[in-house]
Amino acid sequence: MAVYYSSLDSEEKKKLKSWKENTIQLMIATNAFGMGLNDKKVRLVIHYSFPLSIGNLVQETGRAGRNHNSAKCIIFYTRHDICTNYTIITQSRESITEDMNDSFEANKRKEYLAKACEKIFEVVHFCEEQYICREQMLAEYFAWNGDNLSPPCAHCDNCLCVQAELVHKVDVKTDAIKMVEVVEEIINKLRESGKLILPKDIIQVYCQLKCDNEELTSLNIYRETRKKIVRTKADTQHLLDWLIIRGMVKIMINLYRPNPNGNTLQTNIYIVGVIEGVTAIVMEKNWKMWLRHS
Ligand SMILES: [Zn+2]
Repeated sequence: MAVYYSSLDSEEKKKLKSWKENTIQLMIATNAFGMGLNDKKVRLVIHYSFPLSIGNLVQETGRAGRNHNSAKCIIFYTRHDICTNYTIITQSRESITEDMNDSFEANKRKEYLAKACEKIFEVVHFCEEQYICREQMLAEYFAWNGDNLSPPCAHCDNCLCVQAELVHKVDVKTDAIKMVEVVEEIINKLRESGKLILPKDIIQVYCQLKCDNEELTSLNIYRETRKKIVRTKADTQHLLDWLIIRGMVKIMINLYRPNPNGNTLQTNIYIVGVIEGVTAIVMEKNWKMWLRHS
């Protein structure tokens, strides 16, 4: 086993090149080690957090299986990594402050931060999807309009799960529309009190979960009787993420310093709205989702 990182001295780095002669079986390294690596012996890539973008994900996981034989990639992450990645992508700078609100610089920064959110959620969504073929997801991401998608690969983890017939494909368009209504109703209600909306508020109201917040439990949409196809918290979170990465529900990640004199940065994710004409846009899209048999 060996360890590689950028500040390692050059003599040590040279010694590590012997890994190609099979003297090193396991390399623990920062991303810099893998860049451009093209060696057929690499069989497994393990990420200790999720990649910064889908482009990075392909670049990094693509180090394994260069000879087209089966290879594995495992990504360990939690939703706390959203904070880490957002901090890296935004170069550790805090989000917009009030006094920057109208300046040209602030608008440019807002755009940049929105793009950073988008990239992070694309990767989260890729990692959390359990049933759509991984190859197809990547092909779709990089496809030009009109490109035909190849059939499922039949050997990725998601394809194996589908083959085990643990799941069935269901149209969840009505649930997607309902979730948009939930977002709109919560925003209208909480706007009066100036409160910010968290993703968990949307999930609680959509799933009609027990909740102490009277502002939420008094909503008509919380109290109504309705049939849900998407029922579990995990599937509901996934559907909300899908609406976010498709740009229909807008979010803001706020990076802030809990202690003004400290270096630690934390993030809050807020739901800030929906795009104009959202229901009609949701209606046009395909919302086929794999769900576990209940
Ligand atoms: Zn597959």
